[in-house]
Amino acid sequence: MKYIYIQPISEVTEELLEYLVIRLEGIYGYPCRIAPPVKVPEFSYSADRDQYSAEVIVEKIMEKMPVDAEKLLCVVDLDLFVSGLNFVFGLAAGNAAVISLARLRPEYYGEKKNEYLFRERALKEAIHELGHTFGLHHCHDIRCIMHFSNRLEDTDIKGPEFCEVCSTKIGRK
Ligand SMILES: [Zn+2]
Ligand SMILES: [Zn+2]
Repeated sequence: MKYIYIQPISEVTEELLEYLVIRLEGIYGYPCRIAPPVKVPEFSYSADRDQYSAEVIVEKIMEKMPVDAEKLLCVVDLDLFVSGLNFVFGLAAGNAAVISLARLRPEYYGEKKNEYLFRERALKEAIHELGHTFGLHHCHDIRCIMHFSNRLEDTDIKGPEFCEVCSTKIGRK
């Protein structure tokens, strides 16, 4: 039996992780397991930017991938970047991915707190990054979960479903 592991890094609420488990199991058809939380990998922090490197996090976490893991999704409540971009909502490399919760809360933008919206955004980022680990690329359909999110507006418009083309590619439906 192979699992999708959800790996919290540092503080992530149990409630959110369990929500992701339920939804991701339904979408990807793999049982999901929540791994015990780990500390933020050393050397991922950039003092210049006051952000964490998504590339370093994924690379470090991949080294500790459980043997029964089909995929590994890290969830972190810290602001992430990749070289060349101001920030990223997430990153996938090989069979591992990371999503950041830091910019998903309406409060981050001075808007009213909305737990439901926050949770849905986190789910969308999770589905999207896992989609990459299953071999999907960015999709032109703005409603498709595999559409690239440059801004949060993009995330709010799309998904959580795959378009027909992406569904077929991933072997669903
Ligand atoms: Zn993407
Ligand atoms: Zn698509």
